[in-house]
Amino acid sequence: MNDVPRCDRCNRKLKDPDSLSRGMGKTCYRKHQAYVEKFCISLFDADKKPKPQRQRKKREVAP
Ligand SMILES: [Zn+2]
Repeated sequence: MNDVPRCDRCNRKLKDPDSLSRGMGKTCYRKHQAYVEKFCISLFDADKKPKPQRQRKKREVAP
C-alpha cells in the first residue's frame, strides 16, 4: 500500500515515469517550479534592491 507513488502536492497517484521521478504530477511540478523560481528570484532581488511590496504605505490617509 505504501509503495504507491503519489504526488507530493495533490496526493494523486502518479503514472507517468517523469512524474514518478519528480515525485509529483506535471501540473503540480509546473506550479512547484514557478513557485521555486519566483521564490529564488525574489531572494536574489532582495540582495540588490528592496522589494516593491515595501511601498505599502498608507498614503491615502488624511491627517
Ligand atoms: Zn499533483
